[in-house]
Amino acid sequence: ARYRAGEGWVDARLTGYGPLQLDPSTAGLHYAQSIFEGLKAYAQPDGSVATFRPESNAARFARSAARLAMPAVPHDAFLTAVDALVDADREWVPTGPDQTLYLRPYMMAVDPFLGVRPASEYLFLVIASPAGAYFPRGVQPVSVYLSEDYIRAAPGGTGDVKCAGNYAASLLAQEQAIAAGCDQVVWLDAVEKRWVEEMGGMNLFFVLGSGADAELVTPELTGTLLPGITRESLITVARELGHPVTERKFSVDEWRAGVADGTVTETFACGTAAVITPVGEVKGRTGDFTVGNGEPGPLTMELRARLLDVQHGRVPDTHGWLHRVAPV
Ligand code: PMP
Repeated sequence: ARYRAGEGWVDARLTGYGPLQLDPSTAGLHYAQSIFEGLKAYAQPDGSVATFRPESNAARFARSAARLAMPAVPHDAFLTAVDALVDADREWVPTGPDQTLYLRPYMMAVDPFLGVRPASEYLFLVIASPAGAYFPRGVQPVSVYLSEDYIRAAPGGTGDVKCAGNYAASLLAQEQAIAAGCDQVVWLDAVEKRWVEEMGGMNLFFVLGSGADAELVTPELTGTLLPGITRESLITVARELGHPVTERKFSVDEWRAGVADGTVTETFACGTAAVITPVGEVKGRTGDFTVGNGEPGPLTMELRARLLDVQHGRVPDTHGWLHRVAPV
């Protein structure tokens, strides 16, 4: 759909995938007034298709729009757009193990204008793409690089919303991580460079202790990290399994010392794409260390199985997290 100040949203439609025609001075391309979401549709055992917590994506999208001085896409219109696309692409929702249809709603300023100011014309689109299993050869811990040269998000910035600029700012650090032989960046806070914030596209959890007594810590939402929907879901699931979860500041020093003295037994990252990824090797200027024994930890794998079971409809959806896409 298109938005024009004074007219509101018009021209909502479903079309085949193809190139967009944009003016060379399209504001969104120059000033990154551009936001997005990511969610998945899951084929259910009864043949229906369900998206996972789309209301949370709609709510986060609304927060992102407000922070970027963009117009609101009405909550119901966001959900209807996602549903209409999933329904149209029903045949494309993969049914293989851990396979999904990935959905990418986004909004961009399209004013053909070179001045720096909030635009008055916007495009809201949703695209869909089948996604294979994230770990086709079994879950393997990723190696991570502590970013000490670059900052992803500063207090008062846009770190807690999902806007294009956050990712632009992260690309060089991601390249640095790859050059250091790592899979992913771990971002630290901008002020003290001491507190663990999140990964390039995932939130982090630390397991303290083991067995039935294991507890979880996840960095608190300080305003500079993204409030992940998977993060929030896992806090709920972990507590239900009897594991206390604390949202608080967690420093690199505590991580390193905890791994050394055995109090930090597991670390994992979570997000829509991979659901849960164990973290193994940690590299950085101040010394490398490895969490666990190189194998995914037991609580990591238990939580992963549990959440995937909910998403794929293999256990009862006691929280109302699955949204069935009704045939239109
Ligand atoms: N942090 C960042 C920077 C992300 O891009 C994502 C992916 N949206 C996440 C965390 C995880 O969020 P979610 O669980 O909602 O996918």
